[in-house]
Amino acid sequence: MTTAAHAPGATGRPRLGLFRLLRRLLAVPEARYPLAVEPAPLTELPAPDTLAIFLGRSDVSGPRLSPSVTADQEVAAGQPLGTVGDLPIVPSPTAGRIAGVKQAPDVRGGKPGLAVLLEPAGNGDTAFAPLDPSCASVDDLRVRLRKAGVQLELPEAADTVVVLAADPEPGITAALSLLLDDPSAAARATLLVARLAGADRPVLAVLEARAAAIRMAAAGAGIEILPLAAEYPATLPEAVARRVRVKGARPAVIPLARALAALGAVELGRVPSSRVVTILDSSGASIGNFRVSMGTRLGDVFAAAGVEPEPGDKIVTGGLFRGLAQYSLDAAVDATVDALMLIKKGTFRDWSDEPCVNCGWCLDVCPEKLPAHQLTRFAEFSLFDRTPDYGLDDCIECGLCATVCPARRPILQHIRLAKREIAATAAIVADDTAGPTPAPREPDPIAVPVATVTKD
Ligand code: SF4
Ligand code: SF4
Repeated sequence: MTTAAHAPGATGRPRLGLFRLLRRLLAVPEARYPLAVEPAPLTELPAPDTLAIFLGRSDVSGPRLSPSVTADQEVAAGQPLGTVGDLPIVPSPTAGRIAGVKQAPDVRGGKPGLAVLLEPAGNGDTAFAPLDPSCASVDDLRVRLRKAGVQLELPEAADTVVVLAADPEPGITAALSLLLDDPSAAARATLLVARLAGADRPVLAVLEARAAAIRMAAAGAGIEILPLAAEYPATLPEAVARRVRVKGARPAVIPLARALAALGAVELGRVPSSRVVTILDSSGASIGNFRVSMGTRLGDVFAAAGVEPEPGDKIVTGGLFRGLAQYSLDAAVDATVDALMLIKKGTFRDWSDEPCVNCGWCLDVCPEKLPAHQLTRFAEFSLFDRTPDYGLDDCIECGLCATVCPARRPILQHIRLAKREIAATAAIVADDTAGPTPAPREPDPIAVPVATVTKD
């Protein structure tokens, strides 16, 4: 889509500012962000004495969240640790003893919630009878995933399912490590997820450099191998969804780690009990891949990996461009954490509320050629309803715009805020059309990246 399409009218057109002109005159080279094509070595970290298994927040409206276990109770792998209303939730990843229930930070952002403290007595235990993923009924498979606590977040009707076996950001190689460890499992997981979604087009997306080998490993399975460029942001789920979308089609993109968790729940009857996490340093370079027990606190991960955070350092889950700031080392690894980064104090300039200087760098760098500076201004002044005309829906949330902004404006945060506000308004309109207004819900936390590369 062209810039003009996102900038209707004379006032909406991005302006070629002095900085942008200077940049072109000085032939400042375009920044490139290559992705790693070799995984970092994998180290198995021993489980800590106590795991913090996050249940959820108890202060949101809706059915009540409660723990279903008490201190000193022995639990088996797969035993639900909590309930929402009458629904059992969060199966225990392993057998063990309950040490207590307490408030804990949510690694996905937002307010704290309830966590069950579990002293593990096993590792990767079988909790349920194995099922054959190609013969079991889809209903049985869905029940199995629910019992095992695997959330695939498949849409209602997807005709294409992509299992994304490439990592989202530079330096992260957790997915690549899983893919190369067992390509055949990645292929079986792709078929399983496609079956669950009722999709007749299973796709396994891998880095171009790995496509030939994976194509051989998956030969005869009826899976399409989608090669991806090893350059940010080509492997972001939003960018991959665009690659496979044909007119009228509805693709679903599922990360490999989650698809493998589904496969393990079905084939082996296991609740996901660990995941591979890449630890990155302040420059985004990999320190290594580590297999970590679910529920391990971030502080315990760093300690086991020999990394020592100091006062003033920033802790981020995810990568340089889209990572989430963590305010406590007590937040614990869950299925969403693929990377953990320690940013030394003073490495980056803080975000600022300085005005936009119209340099146009954000426009230059945007893969979708969106006027990010305009989107930010609208969001800044709560003019959210104007953002869709400027291409808000086309933003793949890569954060490149914020990376190059000399004013250090928090562009991605503003864009995410606008998306959230537009979605909330649409939900209210839909509720109004459907009937009586439900009780207000606590909004989901906005993913707030804190670390981006500065140009200075
Ligand atoms: S985050 Fe910024 S650079 Fe990336 S697509 Fe959105 S507007 Fe463009
Ligand atoms: S938002 Fe930042 S990068 Fe974009 S035009 Fe304004 S100052 Fe430049």
